[in-house]
Amino acid sequence: MKKIRLGRTGLMVSASSFGALPIQRLSFEEAGRLLRKAYDNGINYFDTANAYSDSEEKIGAALCDVRKDIILSTKSGASDKKTLLSHIELSLKRMKTDYIDILQLHNPSILPDPEDPQSTYAGLLEAQKKGWIRFIGITNHSAQRARDAVLSDKYDTLQYPFCSLSSEEDIEIAKLTCEKDMGFIAMKGLAGGLITNAATTFSFIKQYPFVVPIWGIQREKELDQFLEMEENPPIYDDEMKRLIQKDRKELLGNFCHGCGYCLPCPAKIDIPQAARMSLLLRRAPYQQFLTEDNYKEMLKIENCVHCNSCKSRCPYGLDTPQLLKENLNDYLVFRREHSSQL
Ligand code: SF4
Ligand code: SF4
Repeated sequence: MKKIRLGRTGLMVSASSFGALPIQRLSFEEAGRLLRKAYDNGINYFDTANAYSDSEEKIGAALCDVRKDIILSTKSGASDKKTLLSHIELSLKRMKTDYIDILQLHNPSILPDPEDPQSTYAGLLEAQKKGWIRFIGITNHSAQRARDAVLSDKYDTLQYPFCSLSSEEDIEIAKLTCEKDMGFIAMKGLAGGLITNAATTFSFIKQYPFVVPIWGIQREKELDQFLEMEENPPIYDDEMKRLIQKDRKELLGNFCHGCGYCLPCPAKIDIPQAARMSLLLRRAPYQQFLTEDNYKEMLKIENCVHCNSCKSRCPYGLDTPQLLKENLNDYLVFRREHSSQL
């Protein structure tokens, strides 16, 4: 497995790294097997978050004996120093380690004031002094905030969505990060499941050799696919470009990225899935979405109380309630048209 220098951190991380959000859905045993297989095949960088339920504990259980050989990053969504420090202490305990390589502020809606002694930034500096964390990072879905964070020169790494559907603005942010010698960690490499041909986005990302993708991996066959592509990289040729153009055309405009920042919803709507239903029905095997359980989930959209809290939290500026309504209408028509298969 090739290694990439993660900007000024100097950390040499695997060219395909491991995003540990999906392992929340696995048992400890299954997650352990997957993490260990990744490690045994040269993946040395694992990214998780305080908010990913038991993901940190699963990493700790599976990899604590090889701690010195791996690089760990996690995130805290705290908005004050005290909470941030308590999150870090918890992460250390969960991951069975006495240091975290990169601690990232998790998608803050406002960048903290580094001069404020009670800010999360002050907390990061204190944690660094205590030896709890080595480097300071930030994650964001907002292009403006990501750019501001890079220009502030206060962060060693930026984690930002990056895939074959990325806009010119996203690419500029990635390049700016590189110019500033920050590490660029690419999340959502498969656009939250909307890119169904992994080779297209893989070959696109590899045009930017400083970019470190953290693939969200839940199944062994997904891990195998990324390992195989690292071994025999797909070429970014005319056919790849054509497939990417096709995806871009189909996903043109403001599509839901499935990031989940709009949650929780008082009507208990599974917004990240419901707001992408039309696309999922056409881009993934649709039968799985026509089940009775999924039908009931989609009908919850009718209980929307139009509080608009989802809309105000969406980093992509989507009119989420409207998007949900359109998806429900489309879903009902699609389900009717495929009623013979129910
Ligand atoms: S506007 Fe509707 S969908 Fe959005 S959070 Fe409120 S109830 Fe949920
Ligand atoms: S509606 Fe916006 S915040 Fe919610 S999952 Fe989609 S992109 Fe993310």
